[in-house]
Amino acid sequence: MMEAHENIYRSVCRICHGGCGALLTVREGKLVKVAPDPHSPFNRGRMCIKGPATPEMMYHPSRLLSPLKRVGARGRHHYMHTVRFANTLGTPNWYEPGLANCFIPRITVSRFTYGGFVVADYYGEIKPKTILFWGHNPLVSGPDGELAFPVRRALDAGSYGIAVDPRRSETAKHCKMWLPIRPGTDCALALAMIHVIIREGIYDKEFVEKWTVGFDKLSDHVTQWKNRLFWNGVYPSSRTRIPCKQ
Ligand code: SF4
Repeated sequence: MMEAHENIYRSVCRICHGGCGALLTVREGKLVKVAPDPHSPFNRGRMCIKGPATPEMMYHPSRLLSPLKRVGARGRHHYMHTVRFANTLGTPNWYEPGLANCFIPRITVSRFTYGGFVVADYYGEIKPKTILFWGHNPLVSGPDGELAFPVRRALDAGSYGIAVDPRRSETAKHCKMWLPIRPGTDCALALAMIHVIIREGIYDKEFVEKWTVGFDKLSDHVTQWKNRLFWNGVYPSSRTRIPCKQ
C-alpha cells in the first residue's frame, strides 16, 4: 500500500535497449522501488532483474561517483576515425568490420537484401511458427533484454524453436530442436541449409527472379555442401546431433 509521503511515477527502464514500462516509487525524494507496469503493452507487467535493481545502482555506497580517468590504451570507437576519413574524401560510403562483427554487418546485409533494417516480430498476437536462434540466448542474455518475455511467450505457446549453439543454453533448453554445432562451423551449416532450401524449392521464386542477382552462382556453390555437413564435423558426435524436446 502506498504511504502518504510516497508518489508513484510511470516511467520506462532503459538499462538495456528495451524500454520496459516501469512504476517508480519515490519516498521523500528518494527512489525506493522499481516495479513493472502491468499496463505497459510492451512488457505487460514483467521485468528482468535489472529493472527492480535500479535503486541499488543509484544509491549503492560502492557506485561510481565521478567520471574515471582512463589509464592505458584507448579501445572502442575507433570507427569514428573511419567516418572522419571518409568524410574528408567526400564519401558517405564507409564500411569497417570492427565496430561490429555483429551490428553493422547485420544492418548492411538487411538493407542490401530487403531495402531496410528488418527485425523479428515476437510482439504481435500471432506467434511465429518457427524461431531460429543462432548463437543467441535471448531468454537470459542480450542487449535487448525485453525480448526474453515475448520469446518465452511464443515458445510456451508452441512456436517451434531451433537453437544453433554449441552450449545447451537456457534458450536451447526451451527449444524443440537444439543443433550443437562445433564452434566455427556456422558457415558450413548455413551453406547446407541454403542447399536444402534451393533443392527442395522452398523459397520465394518470384522474389528471387525479380530482386536478386547471382542466384545461379549461389545455387552451384552450395551443391558441394550436399553431403558434407557430417563429414566436416559440424556436429561433435552422433549422440548430440539433434536432440529434440518432445
Ligand atoms: S529487459 Fe530489463 S534492463 Fe531491459 S528495459 Fe526491461 S527491465 Fe530494463
